[in-house]
Amino acid sequence: MTDDPALSGLSGTIVHDEIVPARAPWLHHVRAGETLRIVDVEGNQAVDFLIYAAADDAERYSAQDTVAAQGNLFLRKGTVLLSNEGNPMMTITGSAVDYHDTIGGACSCESNTLRYGHHTKHQHACVENFLEANHWEGRGKRDMVPNINFFMNVPVMDDGTLGIVDGISAPGLTVDLRAEMDVIVVVSNCPQINNPCNAFNPTPVRMIVAA
Ligand SMILES: [Zn+2]
Repeated sequence: MTDDPALSGLSGTIVHDEIVPARAPWLHHVRAGETLRIVDVEGNQAVDFLIYAAADDAERYSAQDTVAAQGNLFLRKGTVLLSNEGNPMMTITGSAVDYHDTIGGACSCESNTLRYGHHTKHQHACVENFLEANHWEGRGKRDMVPNINFFMNVPVMDDGTLGIVDGISAPGLTVDLRAEMDVIVVVSNCPQINNPCNAFNPTPVRMIVAA
């Protein structure tokens, strides 16, 4: 056994363990019953996240169905991530962070120019990462849907305004997701440098799969 703290509490055999560099895309197939652990290695790093059913990628994560079913906007330990067909795709079985976002969306070159000015147009963004990773398996723009932002803090104010504020994560914190069906996980390790979601400094994250 190892004394690596990132593996603590994970049961079963480690079948995958990979560092996703800062700003990079990632795609991995996770089988039903396996647990994916995401480690926020250096802290305050948003992990933009999509899920597709491996059997038929027309079935994919649905933020609306997930939020409606649990009657709450935030994703926490116990949240069941539902598909557009109402089926459980993954369950958050553990989280060292109080909650995660699924309403803030993914950053794009276009939204960056609107929010932060035309000089940001050249900057890499999550939508480009999602498109690149999905392209490896033949998916494209039509397959982009509202995503999850693990480790990202998007509070909702009393008047309904969304904030993108300082992260509530910290170095080494983790979130665990058990696959409820065979799924394809697509990630953008968010490259955003114009707001505090990555503490203005994108950093690597670690993906561990236990079977
Ligand atoms: Zn982003």
